[in-house]
Amino acid sequence: MKTSGKALAQKVERIEASEVFSIRSDELPTWCPGCGYFGIHFGINNAIQQLALLHHQVVVVSGIGCAGRYPFFSHTYGLHTVHGRALPVATGVKLANPELTVLAVGGDGDGLGIGGGHFPHAARRDININYILFDNAIYGLTKGQPSPSTPVGFKTKASPQGTREQPLNATLLALSYGASFVARLFAGDPEGITRALTAGIRHEGFSFYHVYTTCVTFDKQNRTWDHLKKSVHALPENHDRTDRGRAIEHVLRDNDSLGIIYQESR
Ligand code: SF4
Ligand code: MG
Repeated sequence: MKTSGKALAQKVERIEASEVFSIRSDELPTWCPGCGYFGIHFGINNAIQQLALLHHQVVVVSGIGCAGRYPFFSHTYGLHTVHGRALPVATGVKLANPELTVLAVGGDGDGLGIGGGHFPHAARRDININYILFDNAIYGLTKGQPSPSTPVGFKTKASPQGTREQPLNATLLALSYGASFVARLFAGDPEGITRALTAGIRHEGFSFYHVYTTCVTFDKQNRTWDHLKKSVHALPENHDRTDRGRAIEHVLRDNDSLGIIYQESR
């Protein structure tokens, strides 16, 4: 459905009035036009604003990659660290000052490849931080190589005959590693990102958000807006988010459902 010019103007007016833009820094994001990261950025900012967190109460920690630039675009404290190391640095920040709301952000290459060894330990330690994985199933910053979540058969300059390895499923990994809060989300649904983050930031423990997103520049065939919009859907209404085993069974059956998949009661 197309949005009319008037409806769009009204939407922009509502967003401006909500002051969500105050969470953005003065730096305009350098992501490619149409990149899914804009939707994630908006969803995160909206959650910070809705939770009435002040700028100095939030720290965003990133590794390397297109998502690694995130702290520059956030009017909060931020650390742009080393490739794959957002989680250990975020853990250190939280230990140094438990009052802070700590968000670790990064892509699938950064978090499942280079930093893949940190993910299970952050999850099992259950430190009260938030890890938002921007999963576009490709290395964007280095111009389109296959990542650990790229599907079998994906052809790139680095895999001219198509990839052969099975992709990692970050939602399933988080559930298996013992994460106490797991949500699967979509960059084209920033409201869903905001809803999950407001719940996950309040959750006292390690909260993981697996966000399906696009790399419009280097992926024209797999995780595109068209494909994602056709495949993603809400979790079934009767989904039991309190049972880890059932959550795992659900993810093995349905890899496209969105929402809070698991939350351990506290
Ligand atoms: Fe987004 Fe891909 Fe551009 Fe990086 S290269 S900013 S992931 S569209
Ligand atoms: Mg990526």
